[in-house]
Amino acid sequence: MSSLKNPPTKSRRDRQRLILGLLVSGGLFLALGMAVALRLQGPVKTLPYGQFRKQLERGEIASVRLGPTLIEGRLLAVNPQDGRPIHFRVSRVGMEHDVDLIRLLDVHIPGGDYEAETGPSPLQTVVFPGALFLLMLLAFSWVVSRSGGMGSAMAFAKSRARVYTGNAQRVTFEDVAGHDEVVIELKEIVEFLQTPGKYCSLGGRVPKGVLLIGAPGTGKTLLARAVAGEAGVPFFSLSGSDFVELFVGVGASRVRNLFARAQAKAPCLIFIDELDAIGKARGAGGPGSHDERDQTLNQLLVEMDGFDANRGIILLAATNRPETLDQALVRPGRFDRQVVVDRPDLIGREQILKVHARAVPLEETINLRQVAAITPGFVGADLANLVNEAALLAARRGKTTVGLPEFEEGIERLIAGPEKRQRLLRREEKNRIAFHEAGHALVARKLPETDPVHKISIIGRGNGALGYTLYRPEEDRLLHTRTSLENAVSSLLGGALAEELALGEASDGCSSDLRRATQIARRMVVEFGMSPVLGRLNYLKDSGLSSPTAAELSWSEQTAREIDLEVRRIIDEAQARARIILQGHRETLDEIAARLIEQETVDAAELKAILENAECRTEDTPRGVGGPGSES
Ligand code: ADP
Ligand code: MG
Ligand code: ZN
Repeated sequence: MSSLKNPPTKSRRDRQRLILGLLVSGGLFLALGMAVALRLQGPVKTLPYGQFRKQLERGEIASVRLGPTLIEGRLLAVNPQDGRPIHFRVSRVGMEHDVDLIRLLDVHIPGGDYEAETGPSPLQTVVFPGALFLLMLLAFSWVVSRSGGMGSAMAFAKSRARVYTGNAQRVTFEDVAGHDEVVIELKEIVEFLQTPGKYCSLGGRVPKGVLLIGAPGTGKTLLARAVAGEAGVPFFSLSGSDFVELFVGVGASRVRNLFARAQAKAPCLIFIDELDAIGKARGAGGPGSHDERDQTLNQLLVEMDGFDANRGIILLAATNRPETLDQALVRPGRFDRQVVVDRPDLIGREQILKVHARAVPLEETINLRQVAAITPGFVGADLANLVNEAALLAARRGKTTVGLPEFEEGIERLIAGPEKRQRLLRREEKNRIAFHEAGHALVARKLPETDPVHKISIIGRGNGALGYTLYRPEEDRLLHTRTSLENAVSSLLGGALAEELALGEASDGCSSDLRRATQIARRMVVEFGMSPVLGRLNYLKDSGLSSPTAAELSWSEQTAREIDLEVRRIIDEAQARARIILQGHRETLDEIAARLIEQETVDAAELKAILENAECRTEDTPRGVGGPGSES
């Protein structure tokens, strides 16, 4: 999808050419060898040394040539069929010092027709193989050079990182639309790369690694290119799959090489796209070639520990599967800053469309907001495609400008496949998700000691979730009171409850909410001693694990039952609280949902405004409004 990515077919083609080169030179070698063998044609008898001496003594040999390992010569007798001379050959190995031989030769070779050779001639040992080798080399390099240069094929272990220093097709933050928060975060990195000294003198700590997380096509690669474009420093870019090779050790040495090259060019930026290709949890997956990947990952971890970010190297990586990454990679000091690149909401989509429509003549009447409104669920890459598709359609129709009908048909075409059709949210689904998320948010806002709601969205973040409510704790909470845990459970249950209230019944979209709610309630009972029935006991064995397996639980049947009942009670009570809130503020719920349907995301300030509005309107007692009111 991106122009930076190494198309996988290219490296495969490289390898095919390499193999072709080897075959060609191998064939050449074979042909030459055969020519050499043919030089010695004619009937040749191989004799044992003893028999050769006997025949010599009997005077049956006409001439002899003594080599260091071979004796060759001609017999007196000729071939009875065609009268051709008969040659013979004797191995002399082990008999080289047969001094008696010379006396025998003197006596029995009639005209003294024998000679000796010291060994193969220089022509045979040096010039001939040398020429052969040269020929092979030429053939090889010819084939290789056609596939992109000797260097690229010879340097297996060299990293394949492409370096961008110039500003050919420079990408800037202007080209990235709808990711304002992400851009702010990345601008800090650009600033650091441009003036590393300034940061360090203030004692600022710069992140070593920044991980961009988001669904495919949301613009992660684009963002990385924009960082490089803005910073104006060398940019080493490669894809995780570039490290994955057939040969053990190649990946690891590529990593080493990459960092060595980067160190020489600091300040600079290293970008590893599709980090999950090397960053998968070690030991995960089946047996087989995993050693290689583990080695590569280990080397990456070693290099990341080894370099000093203050020297001006920053590692940027992107993945759409953060959950598969090895935990060691996301530890502090490695990819410790993680930035989520969301799917765009209505306004985001409009902005992205504007970026891509810059070069396309649009009809005067068209409003890109309309196009954005009919493409919920589309990511940046889809929208870029859509603009392209619409422009093509207009051209095909002989129009000079692109209008709404072209966009509409373009959408039809893009979602032609059944799997792609899912990308476009159906209206009823949008409605349902809106109520669900509004339910989470409203309950959280109305209960004390909950984390403030930062943003609500009905555009999923990939990984299965359809919408999300983002809570942002004011500060990292180290301790949770019983109230805060109970209210977190209420808020989690608020989603399904709101669906029930507004649409008659809940859907299966709440399974992960329920899992998390149950998990919290269970830990309250089993680990935190927060159940009056079971008392202040920790029911886990001293394994120190927070996620006990069955074997580690130490309770009787009776206790197990009591635990289940207590978990049940906590959930039921939390649900009752949530229900009261949602029923009591039904209008507010509808209002939040409507706003979500309209603009797909609602941020903290808007949510606060809606809530305050509702309060002065209904004059209802601000029951339980102890919720953290601050917006971050
Ligand atoms: P990812 O790396 O997240 O899979 P890419 O960065 O490769 O996605 O995006 C593919 C293309 O989609 C980009 O080259 C760009 O044309 C378009 N695109 C994606 N997101 C955006 C965005 N936020 N703004 C503008 N264009 C975008
Ligand atoms: Mg990408
Ligand atoms: Zn939910």
